[in-house]
Amino acid sequence: MKDCIFCKIISGEIPAEKIAENDSLIVIKDITPKAPVHFLIIPKKHIKDLVSLEKADAALLGEVGLMAKELSKKLSGSQAFQLVTNCGADAGQSVFHLHFHFLSGKKIADL
Ligand code: 5GP
Ligand code: ZN
Repeated sequence: MKDCIFCKIISGEIPAEKIAENDSLIVIKDITPKAPVHFLIIPKKHIKDLVSLEKADAALLGEVGLMAKELSKKLSGSQAFQLVTNCGADAGQSVFHLHFHFLSGKKIADL
């Protein structure tokens, strides 16, 4: 999608530090990390946010979970992590292309 920063990263138009990639997802380092490990798991398909997900895209969430599992195996020390998606500006979403923050090394929030 035009003017979407994550679509531009996926197409290679904007550079990013890539951690992993498969047919449906890319994983990049967040540009302003909020934890010692802060990756973004981003579906390649432009979906605005979690509530814009259609039933046909539901398998993507399973892919995200499996990707988080693979990323956790590569962590040094504790393999504990948080997986967070902000849905809507009032929840802190600033890029309106569905993505999941993979955070480790520091507890971000007590939920
Ligand atoms: P949100 O606030 O939408 O939940 O998360 C968006 C995240 O994308 C933020 O943590 C922000 O630091 C990150 N971000 C924004 N622009 C870029 C960029 O150009 N490159 C990378 N790697 N991360 C970005
Ligand atoms: Zn996009």
